[in-house]
Amino acid sequence: MARLTFEQAQEKYRIEREKRLNKRPEGNAQYKELKGDYEEFDRDPFADPNFTRDSRVEEVDVVVVGGGFGGMLTGAFLTKKGVRSFRIIEKAGDFGGTWYWNRYPNCACDVESYIYLPLLEETGYMPKEKYSKATEIFAYCQLFGRHFDLYSNALFQTECEDMRWDESAKRWTTKTSRGDVITSKFVVIAGGVLHKAKLPGIKGIEKFKGRTFHTSRWDYSYTGGAPQEKMEKLADKRVGIIGTGATAVQVVPKLGESAKELYVFQRTAASVGVRNNKMTDPEWFKSLKPGWQMERMRNFTQVVTGGQPEVDMIDDAWTKMLWIDTKGVPKDEADAERMDRIDYENMEGIRARIEEIVTDPETAEKLKPWYGQSCKRACFHDEYLPTFNRPNVHLVDTEGQGVDEITETGVVVNGTEYPCDLLVFASGFEVTSDYHHRLGFDPVGKGAVPLSVAWADGPGTLHGVLGRGFPNMLMISATQGGQAINFVHTITETAIHVTHLIERALNENIASFEPTVEAQDAWFEVLIGTVWGTARYNAVCTPGYLNNEGGVGTMRSGKGSSYMTSALEFVDILEKWRAAGNFPGYEVTKN
Ligand code: NDP
Repeated sequence: MARLTFEQAQEKYRIEREKRLNKRPEGNAQYKELKGDYEEFDRDPFADPNFTRDSRVEEVDVVVVGGGFGGMLTGAFLTKKGVRSFRIIEKAGDFGGTWYWNRYPNCACDVESYIYLPLLEETGYMPKEKYSKATEIFAYCQLFGRHFDLYSNALFQTECEDMRWDESAKRWTTKTSRGDVITSKFVVIAGGVLHKAKLPGIKGIEKFKGRTFHTSRWDYSYTGGAPQEKMEKLADKRVGIIGTGATAVQVVPKLGESAKELYVFQRTAASVGVRNNKMTDPEWFKSLKPGWQMERMRNFTQVVTGGQPEVDMIDDAWTKMLWIDTKGVPKDEADAERMDRIDYENMEGIRARIEEIVTDPETAEKLKPWYGQSCKRACFHDEYLPTFNRPNVHLVDTEGQGVDEITETGVVVNGTEYPCDLLVFASGFEVTSDYHHRLGFDPVGKGAVPLSVAWADGPGTLHGVLGRGFPNMLMISATQGGQAINFVHTITETAIHVTHLIERALNENIASFEPTVEAQDAWFEVLIGTVWGTARYNAVCTPGYLNNEGGVGTMRSGKGSSYMTSALEFVDILEKWRAAGNFPGYEVTKN
């Protein structure tokens, strides 16, 4: 195919975006929750369904909601500070969060393991490869739990159902699905970012009579095999997979290898760069000097946000893609247009790679992504594209429209039914829905006001960590907080901040603290000052969760924005705040 010029490509991006927005003006509402008729999709296939335990009625210093990296780091830092009176409440049957749920074939992390696995220097663990497989990450979460003695503090297979602040007692009361009633001075909500799976609202989805599940609830009893093995029970099965995001890019090669026939239903093509994984060199790992991990994390974040450190320590496809001569995020139109041209060249590289690898020109053409590189999570994989050269693998491109219908026996696109025995939904997770909705409970703060009411016009916080009206309720989240490609970087820094606040309150006889209205407003102004570059970029992006399915520009989504420039600046703000020492911007009540 002839190469499109920059201007022609921009026009094609616009046409492709319009096609999708015209078809789905409802944005996020196109998706279904795993509730009611779809509750079975949410069932935990990994935990013991017969598990029971006695309910607890107790008082602790801290209740932590979530046993993923945010909750685990909070537990580790509290433990290191000598605070052991805490409970971690977790819906799953173990630690790990996203790495507990996502056990689908080939699941791996696309951020370098040395900067992704938290506190490696303390646990002494050496990751096996530059990019860890999910099984190794999940095992590391368990090692982490044992290392910091977190298991005795955890309540697994338990969901938080109610959380209320008692202003006179200055305590939170948390009630759970197992009848626990836990009173605490503080709560830390580390509810995760990508933990609430969603299904596409496709006509007839409830009719399908074959086996079906979401990628985050993989059923190996049906498919056979294991995450890194062939799924032998699929040898005589026709499999359909809906979605071609970062998850599907990892799953498709193993399904292609295992299934009799595989139909990949595509709405928007993924952008797939080079992976180039390699084993860890133990000599190199041993040679690392104390403090190396945070230095390496910072180096990555600096590189991918346009900083120009002397060395690119990670030196991979992420850093090559984003280590561009920007001197930071774009400051004006000219700067932004220069970056758009670099983005176009990168995407031309991605499109050329498809032509090189995929032998059928028609399939190659359909696999080409037509949007800016950061509109969707960039993917890196060396087996995804070659899978489409297999005779049993069929790309069913829906031209941005999505599949038309699901029947009892298969999937319909453009009047053709594709019969399937197994239908896998690689349809992603809720990201931009309201905070309390993603949490699955609605904390009730001062004056009996629920969070859903207090934040009806959008969130209000200081640093994304604490909101007015919800004293001592600390949050580890991207909502008005930090964000980074290596999310573990901002989670670690936020957990440091949150546990610092708790330690100080406990040591200084502080009964409660919450931000002032002025401090929240000022923080919002700071956030607004960081969003220009991203908002400009996202406004012309193909719909996806990064731009609220095309719904950018609303006050609500704007108010929930993260600190969008460099996470290093966000960390600097938190550090300066801690150094100030006198709780600036907070209203503090002593015991
Ligand atoms: P995504 O939200 O990225 O992808 C969902 C997919 O489902 C999209 O391709 C979407 O198409 C498609 N889809 C939705 N509705 C329909 C429909 N009606 N018909 C056809 N297709 C449909 O979810 P993922 O689970 O892939 O990824 C979520 C996030 O998880 C990633 O962005 C990443 O942050 C994280 N992740 C990280 C990994 C890592 O290595 N660290 C690995 C895997 C995931 P469309 O694009 O048109 O909306």
